[in-house]
Amino acid sequence: MIQRVFNFYSGPAVLPESVLERARAEMLDFKGSGMSVMELSHRSDAFLTVLRSAEQRLRSLLALPDNYRVLFLQGGASLQFSMVPMNFLDSGPADYVITGTWSEKACKTAANFGLVNVVNQLSDRYTTVPGEEELRFSSEAKYVHYVSNETIDGVEFPYDLNGFGSPVICDASSNILSRPIDIGKYSVIYAGAQKNIGPSGVTVVIVSDEMLERCRGKQNGVLSYNAFAENESMPNTPNTWGIYIIDLVCEWLEEQGGVAAISRVNAKKAGLLYSEIDESDGFYSGMAELAARSRMNVTFRLASGDLEAKFCDEAAAIGLVGLRGHRSVEGIRASIYNAFPLEGVERLAEFMQDFSRKNC
Ligand SMILES: *Cc1c(COP(=O)(O)O)cnc(C)c1O
Repeated sequence: MIQRVFNFYSGPAVLPESVLERARAEMLDFKGSGMSVMELSHRSDAFLTVLRSAEQRLRSLLALPDNYRVLFLQGGASLQFSMVPMNFLDSGPADYVITGTWSEKACKTAANFGLVNVVNQLSDRYTTVPGEEELRFSSEAKYVHYVSNETIDGVEFPYDLNGFGSPVICDASSNILSRPIDIGKYSVIYAGAQKNIGPSGVTVVIVSDEMLERCRGKQNGVLSYNAFAENESMPNTPNTWGIYIIDLVCEWLEEQGGVAAISRVNAKKAGLLYSEIDESDGFYSGMAELAARSRMNVTFRLASGDLEAKFCDEAAAIGLVGLRGHRSVEGIRASIYNAFPLEGVERLAEFMQDFSRKNC
């Protein structure tokens, strides 16, 4: 008997059950090919159809205008920390907004390639995001980079950053497709698939034609965005299986009503957990400031590390798995991406009430 749990892991993360079932049903014979998707040649018509479908679905879910390309890369979001400066930094400077662990890493990596400026005030813990009026961009910035949702810290921008003339590049790994965005404000958006749109091993990069033009002459082999743009994401063998699963996840999201509809569900899910925190008389304390609370990664603390360990153990015993916070910040983290079911969030909220009653 198959026993599924409620999976709160931050990534790789939960996938829609119907997607897994579909992949299982198509595993041995994909659409009459007599092969699984993993065994298909990436140059075959059957696979090209999958890749084009995934791209089309992403385009329509994100309402992408024609002047953006959708590329499928490998190397995780982390490789983008290098590819972005390799393709766009030139002599710099580039502006980095640092609001958490991932944006800090992106900035440190870029500093290996040229001049970077940090454009917001830093504190010793990452609990908030700057208001737009606080940001002081360099006058000639090659680009502005930020992370729209800090997966580890549980901090999310409630607005689309305005570059005030500089191209905006965004790591949206953990909140892409979770809410509508104003695409016109972005020049590049990238996202490792394993949080919100598929399995690990594929990174979706959305890039404007204008930015591709800027880095056209760069000879970086498969570290060039143009190598992917000019070869339908296949200057070399892509992660065919990962792209297939992205296609299925996007189809599932269409069935849910698309990004605006899932965004309402996401707000409801996050609201349930934050209410438990706020109404617990301090038994639980949220790690992010109210205005910067993430709808994808809900982070909170209990009075002691021991109590947090007990919380995670007892939750796991009733099928609520993966709640331990990242080792760098500790505490509790409930990752509740698009595919995480409302029912699981309700179960956790109930458990939080029970646990606080028994342990206060
Ligand atoms: C997970 C994550 C990364 C790193 O992703 P990899 O695919 O492991 O390289 C980078 N940025 C954000 C916002 C993430 O959530």
